[in-house]
Order: sequence, then C-alpha cells, then structure tokens
Amino acid sequence: MSAPWMLPDFDAHESVHIFRDAAAGLTAIIAVHSTHLGPSGGGTRFWHYADPDAAMIDALRLSRGMSYKNAMAGLAMGGGKAVILADAARTKTPELIAAFARAVDSLGGRYVTAQDVGISAQDIIDISKGTRFVSGLPPKQGGAGGDPGPSTALGVFLGVKAAVRRALGKDDLVGVHVAIQGVGSVGGGLARHLAAAGARLTLADRDAGRAQALAADLGATTVSADDILSVPADVLSPCALGAILDDNSIPRLNAPVIAGGANNQLARPDHGAAVQARGILYAPDYVINAGGIINVALEYLDGADRAAVDAKIAGIPDRLNAVWDESAATGDHPAMVADRMAQKLIGRG
Ligand code: NAD
Repeated sequence: MSAPWMLPDFDAHESVHIFRDAAAGLTAIIAVHSTHLGPSGGGTRFWHYADPDAAMIDALRLSRGMSYKNAMAGLAMGGGKAVILADAARTKTPELIAAFARAVDSLGGRYVTAQDVGISAQDIIDISKGTRFVSGLPPKQGGAGGDPGPSTALGVFLGVKAAVRRALGKDDLVGVHVAIQGVGSVGGGLARHLAAAGARLTLADRDAGRAQALAADLGATTVSADDILSVPADVLSPCALGAILDDNSIPRLNAPVIAGGANNQLARPDHGAAVQARGILYAPDYVINAGGIINVALEYLDGADRAAVDAKIAGIPDRLNAVWDESAATGDHPAMVADRMAQKLIGRG
C-alpha cells in the first residue's frame, strides 16, 4: 500500500486516521480533508473493497468531495468521510458498530458522521449511543433531519427551474420537457414537483415497472433505461448513477440543459469541457444536489426546523447562477468553476 500522502487524491488532507479493533472486527479509515469552515462532515461507507488502497482512495476522494459540497451549500461544515472495510460477507455486528462509534468519538468532533452506502438508519441510531458526533437521526416533530431524499429532490427542482430560466429564458416550467433517468427517492420526488409545476415528463428506470407506475400517476411517458440519455428534451435530469456523461453518451445528448441529482455525473473532469463544447448548460452535481446534506447538517449544527432547511435549500439557484456567471465570464466549464469556488471557500484558492 502506498503512503496515503503519496496518492494523487491526498490533496492536502488535514488528517487521515486509521482504526483497527481486532476483537470487534473493525478496520476503518476516517479522512478529514478540511475543517476550515467547521467540523468535517460526511457519511460512513460500509463496503468490501478489493484491497486497502482502494478503500484509502475512496475515503480521500469522497472526503474532498464533501469539503467542496458543504462549502458550496453555504454550510458551516468542513469535509470528511469514513470508510469501514467490510469483509467479503459484509459482516456487520453490534460490536463493530460500537467500536466504530468509539473511533468517531475519539476525534472529539473534528469529524461528524452520517449515513452512506451500506450504513442503515438503524446503524446511525446505534452509532449515536457511542458518540454525539453523528447526524441523520430520526427527525423530531417539525425538525430537520431524517430521509434526505425529499430535500435533495426539492433542491434539484429549484435548480432545474434556474437552469431553464437561464438557458431557455422561461420563467415557469409549463410545457417544459424534462427527461429523468432514475425515479427513486430523488428522481421520483423531482418528477412530482415538476408535474405539479406543469412540466412534461419522460421517465426511465432500470426498474421499468417503477417508471411506468409513476408515469401513470403523473400523466408522463416512459422510455427504456437505454434510451433516456438521448431523448429530445429541454432538460436531461440524471438521478440514478454516476459517471453517465462520458465519451459515448455526450455526442448523443439531445437536451440543452443537464440538471439532475446523481453524484459524480462526469466520468472524467474533462467531460465537463465536452458537455460545454456541445453548447449544453450543466448544473454541477454537488451544487444542485446539496438539499440532502443541508437537511442533515442543519440538524447537527443547530437543530433547525423544516422552514430553516427549506430556506437554505432555496439558496441553491443563486449558487448555480454564480457558477454559470463565472463560467460565462471566464469560458471555463461550470464543474471547473464550482471546484474553484469551493477551493476558495475552504481557504485554498
Ligand atoms: P434510489 O436508489 O432511491 O433511486 C435510484 C433509482 O435509479 C432506482 O429507482 C434505480 O432502479 C434507478 N436506476 C439505477 N440504475 C439505472 C439506470 N442505469 N438507468 C435508469 N435507472 C436506473 O437513489 P436516490 O437516493 O434517488 O439517489 C439517486 C442519485 O442521487 C444517486 O446518484 C445518489 O448518489 C444521488 N444523491 C442522492 C441524495 C439523496 O438525498 N438521496 C443526495 C445527493 C445525491
């Protein structure tokens, strides 16, 4: 295994912590990229990695991503991430979770954990028995927290509206055609907001039945998961997988706007330039999909209520417009501009 600081993804992490508790079966990495804006916040991933290097690279990459995302969301929170290296059978025991909670607690609040792939809502409750540096607990009546999906969907909806205003000069969504890839928690919630605003929808999901049921409910049409990226539409909204904008898909895109909730939509950073070269307005993923982290972070930082969360989510269009303004002024593509803005916000500009 290479030394973590030799890895290209190290990117001046403030600290990287390794925890081993053989009795509890725990091996975990907690990467703290930046605490410039506040405690480093980011979820815990419970995953079986091919080798320890892959786990370290994942932790570093995700942790830096959280720094950028939290900064661009206007949160008083830095960026960090934990990965627990699961065995091939993904054995998760109460002892392992308790040992992980002790690991988080030992950092004294420099890192605040939350849910990510492989960690359930119940795991978060169990972790909270061993540390208070945890977020994403069930919401109190009218409070922030709980399932981040609806908050993410609301932010993406507002971002789609902002993109339509900018690219198409339209102040409302009546008759605007939006193609949505993936109608799960985020894409499904987005579809409902868009339908209520009068948009015309084409939906696709790997689970065709799920797309068809929602389409029947909303008066939308469906296409196969293979065809959605090239549907002629006003907006393409990727809400399923990452890395969908690549050498194959970009030439086939048929919409002047890409604005969706999926993480890491660009397969490589230079695909941002390829999208721009096609004259397509791109909403950087971690800026438009910040609603969920706003919900989770405000629960931790100040026990805010729903109204405060929604007010903060309402700031997403302004941040997107700031990115697009700078992109227009400099000629740099929006994803590059967003990264640069985030770096400045965390004191690394
Ligand atoms: P989800 O699992 O609820 O929904 C994803 C949907 O996409 C599922 O219905 C799945 O069948 C479908 N899908 C998977 N592969 C597909 C394919 N190739 N073509 C079409 N559909 C496909 O997940 P979610 O919570 O809605 O998250 C969706 C995306 O948004 C992910 O990239 C996630 O990382 C990102 N995201 C989610 C949140 C959140 O708050 N849930 C926050 C930020 C970002």
